[in-house]
Amino acid sequence: MSNTIRFDVDGDGIATLTIDIPGKSMNVITPEFQADLAAAVARIADDSGVKAAILTSAKRDFMAGADLKDLVTAYDRGVSAAEAAGFSAEINKLYRKLETCGKPVAAAMNGLALGGGLELALACHYRVLADAPKVVVGLPEVKVGLLPGAGGTQRLPRLIGIANALPLMAEGKHLKPAEALKLGVVHELAPPEAVVQRARAWIGSGPEPVAPWDRKGFKVPGGAGQQNPGVAQTFMVGTALAAKVTWRNYPAPLAIMSAVYEGSQLPFDRALAVESKYFGKLLSGPVARNMMRTLFVNKGLADSLARRPEGVPRSKVGRLGVLGAGMMGAGIAYVSAQAGMDVVLLDTSLEAAEKGKGYSRKLLDKGIERGKVSREQADALLAKIHPTTEYADLAGCDLVIEAVFEQRDIKADVTGKAEAVMGKDTVFASNTSTLPITGLAQASKRPRLFIGVHFFSPVDKMPLVEIILGKKTSPEALARALDYVAQLKKTPIVVNDSRGFYTSRVIGTIANEGQAMLAEGVAPALIENAARMAGFPVGPLAVSDEVTLELQWKIMRQTEQDLGARFVRPVGYDVLRKMIDLGRLGRRQGGGYYDYPSDGAKHLWPGLREHWPVAAEQPDVQEVMKRFLFIEALESARCMEEGVITHPADADLGSILGIGYPAWTGGAISYIETFGIPEFVAECQRLAKRYGPRFKPTRTLRRMAREGQRFYPLPASGKAA
Ligand code: NAD
Repeated sequence: MSNTIRFDVDGDGIATLTIDIPGKSMNVITPEFQADLAAAVARIADDSGVKAAILTSAKRDFMAGADLKDLVTAYDRGVSAAEAAGFSAEINKLYRKLETCGKPVAAAMNGLALGGGLELALACHYRVLADAPKVVVGLPEVKVGLLPGAGGTQRLPRLIGIANALPLMAEGKHLKPAEALKLGVVHELAPPEAVVQRARAWIGSGPEPVAPWDRKGFKVPGGAGQQNPGVAQTFMVGTALAAKVTWRNYPAPLAIMSAVYEGSQLPFDRALAVESKYFGKLLSGPVARNMMRTLFVNKGLADSLARRPEGVPRSKVGRLGVLGAGMMGAGIAYVSAQAGMDVVLLDTSLEAAEKGKGYSRKLLDKGIERGKVSREQADALLAKIHPTTEYADLAGCDLVIEAVFEQRDIKADVTGKAEAVMGKDTVFASNTSTLPITGLAQASKRPRLFIGVHFFSPVDKMPLVEIILGKKTSPEALARALDYVAQLKKTPIVVNDSRGFYTSRVIGTIANEGQAMLAEGVAPALIENAARMAGFPVGPLAVSDEVTLELQWKIMRQTEQDLGARFVRPVGYDVLRKMIDLGRLGRRQGGGYYDYPSDGAKHLWPGLREHWPVAAEQPDVQEVMKRFLFIEALESARCMEEGVITHPADADLGSILGIGYPAWTGGAISYIETFGIPEFVAECQRLAKRYGPRFKPTRTLRRMAREGQRFYPLPASGKAA
């Protein structure tokens, strides 16, 4: 009895296989589905009453890929490359059996088809795809460190040519229905409700049930192999491009290219074996585990509000108050209006508030230019943003967020004024980037309802929101803040209060490390390039310029003032002070570590060499990369030790989505665990001796190393690390 596929045969002998994985809103490939599909394929092949088959889905969409919750455990269970290749080989055998069953098989794709779902459709002889706005097809496995291991790397290039197929797989791009049709990934488009009927019509036309690559004399469209100049060029450029983009930190894009390069020159079944071999290598390695765990499993949990306190009724923000219409307030207003909320945008002058609204207008105009937004949609969104200087307009707001200047007294002032008109149960949130929430909550009459909701810039692009709990913040306030983040479709992490919370604190360490290196005489270009080679989007000097050195300096002085005798000057202090004295305040102010000429690309400020002469002997690039990866990872471990972070997933997600820690690591804590906690501790000790006590391993790390503990528990059947 099949639990995941309904198998109906009509009077014409056409079998309809309706995929319906129980308990899931989206069909995914589970071990049970695979077993059911094997039985169904055997029946199609062996039952003489079955003349043809149509695969479709009972859900809104056709099918996504493999259930990553199963695959993510492979590395920790110590699955070898050969065993992992076996997973792919097994499914390849099954799909191949479907393809060569001798009867016409059509995929009636009633909604999106991604990864293994698209690969299943590619193993059918005919594909009809629903033509509807949210439908996409693609092979996005690369985004979690894998390759399409169910025939995708072999069927797609044979269908649409190597030059078309490679970017789709190596970058994991999605195709809309019209693009999929144009490229030849599918044969036909139809309204979702008509896909089965069209598949039936194709069967009625009496097609020959043979895949193109099983026909005599088949050639890969556009050619294959080194002898073909176009193909050789594609691989040459592709490999160079992959190296440029990934710095070889991500094995998947190159594995995809190898699988396609080798496989496309082989008979089909041997080609599938090549794919399985590369899939096995990736699945048994740490990068795929790290990317799947953080970017899929834990991101999914965070998005579904796993940290939301129980027992608090779900809430929805209909009307939002935003105090301060500067860079952040304007961005918060835009994304909130986009999510359907009415936004009261308050500033000290109407001109400033209107300017904040103007930010949305600018973004929308760009959207209209690119054909992504209609004029009506833009007008409707703008009509939701109400600029004002009147606190009385905040009455009726379900949530108020302040994004005024980073100054305690100003924040205290707006808190009091807003609370005077807000409903007595309304949550007040601060978007401060560094000031401890507990301290700011002192200005509130109801600290239970005071919380940190920290956005990242630019708000419309950055997917993370860091929620910060003050000492008195209540579970209700947390639940409501999380509900609001879910309305925005952003990913929340929840952290406890501390100066700089989690993200600002950690990004501060890499900025400081870059400054320390300048003072040591490390060449500025080496500093910046090493960070990018490690996988950071930009170097620490560029980050400082973006954040602005002025702001960093203000934060430093504020911290100095707040901590008094307890303040310890970070190693980069003197460099930062000098830059401020020199008037090099950051990008917005015209220049910092970089110059930003109006008529050319930004480049490192030549004056750096004058003030911090480059030493004759330069460190190895690997050592520089390590310092960056380590200093942020170590600060993350410190945040865990201090209870600022209570779950490693928050640090991993926060570091990747908020501050650009390289995704191949799975995040700052996964980096430590993958490096090996004892090895990490030993390396920290070496770095501390050489560069200073900021690299000293924490007490907890040392204990974990001694006792063989881990941050993430092993899967139930896993062997000890
Ligand atoms: P900004 O200087 O661009 O904007 C601040 C706005 O607040 C200005 O429009 C100002 O007129 C307004 N304002 C000042 N006093 C006010 C008052 N009493 N009442 C009403 N409005 C007032 O600053 P920003 O970069 O948008 O930062 C705002 C807050 O967000 C700060 O707390 C900052 O630390 C935090 N933050 C900034 C970033 C970032 O990347 N810039 C990221 C996360 C959080």
